[in-house]
Amino acid sequence: MLNIGCHLSVSKGYKAMGEEALNIGANTFQFFTRNPRGSKAKEIDPKDVEALLEIVKENKFAIILAHAPYTLNACSADEGTREFAVNIMADDLRRMEYLPNSLYNFHPGSHVKQGTRVGIEYIVNMLNTVLKPEQTTTVLLETMSGKGTEVGRTFEELKQILDGVTLSSRMGVCLDTCHIYDAGYDIVNDLDGVVDEFDRIIGLDKLYAIHLNDSKNPFESHKDRHEKIGEGSIGIDVIIKVINHPKLRHLPFFLETPNELEGYAHEIKILREAYVE
Ligand code: FE
Ligand code: FE
Ligand code: ZN
Repeated sequence: MLNIGCHLSVSKGYKAMGEEALNIGANTFQFFTRNPRGSKAKEIDPKDVEALLEIVKENKFAIILAHAPYTLNACSADEGTREFAVNIMADDLRRMEYLPNSLYNFHPGSHVKQGTRVGIEYIVNMLNTVLKPEQTTTVLLETMSGKGTEVGRTFEELKQILDGVTLSSRMGVCLDTCHIYDAGYDIVNDLDGVVDEFDRIIGLDKLYAIHLNDSKNPFESHKDRHEKIGEGSIGIDVIIKVINHPKLRHLPFFLETPNELEGYAHEIKILREAYVE
């Protein structure tokens, strides 16, 4: 079965996300741990999370993915911003334990003018500060498009971060199809080659989730603008190849396309029909 969901809003609570996912034909979902611009998170209502876990169990959901706020920048040149990143992630990982054995994805960050090497050092430091051996959450680095001074545009950069983390068993990667195409990995003409390159540099055992998005911009544009499935430069044929790829098809797929719930339901339906059981 295809494990697929989309990004949902946490504003109505956890149980509401489970119900919404069911309503649109999803069997997992992604949500922001707090306001995406990054502010104080509402304390979790254990009863609300219990109700979600009930839905998850009854409907045999695939693993759930949380997304850190965009404002989190572990490799900022500003010390206050770096401290903020450490505090936010530590608090998020504490709250993630209400949803045991889930995934938590974050953008590695932007090094501004400090260079990739310094940026990677800061990111590694943050992870070595916040990861705890007892946590059940796997923390994922997202593949980035390389907009501005983003770290994580290449598989090599992600590998360097992974190599620096002591608790490496708690770490993985989330591959975003829009981002890697924008970054210069040509999944349109050579999907197998890109998958093999990922395996050679990072290892497919480190790949835990896929953000399934089309791109508004051409190959290697470093723009990071998501498009609806089949309406962008990647196209429906390649997206269908991705979900059916022998080395990817078992993974959970998360849509982050510009849609309301109805649009997500439509995309999920098309993708389920295109998935070869
Ligand atoms: Fe993201
Ligand atoms: Fe993404
Ligand atoms: Zn994006």
